[in-house]
Amino acid sequence: MPRERSQNQTKNELSSQLHLLQEAAMGRLDNLECPNCRRAAVSVWFSHPVADAYRTWFICADCDFHTRAQNTERPQFFSDDRVSAELEEHDLSIVRRTIFKKPPQGLI
Ligand SMILES: [Zn+2]
Repeated sequence: MPRERSQNQTKNELSSQLHLLQEAAMGRLDNLECPNCRRAAVSVWFSHPVADAYRTWFICADCDFHTRAQNTERPQFFSDDRVSAELEEHDLSIVRRTIFKKPPQGLI
């Protein structure tokens, strides 16, 4: 059934993301195994688009796999060397879009 399959897929994606997050939490930021192509080609990047938001990104150099996790606190291995300006710019546009999506108050 398509519904079951998509649920399993989501579960698999979540568990592979969890695995990557655990690796990152242990300070392994390079050559992580890609859940998609299975090569040790995933690197961890961070972005910090606004004061109270951090993101951890996992990006594969060998395929188009990428995923990101939202952090409520500064990640333990966060460093400016690992901040991607490109990702930050991307994040900022998401944050901006979210702000614009909020309905204006007091107009109804
Ligand atoms: Zn890959």
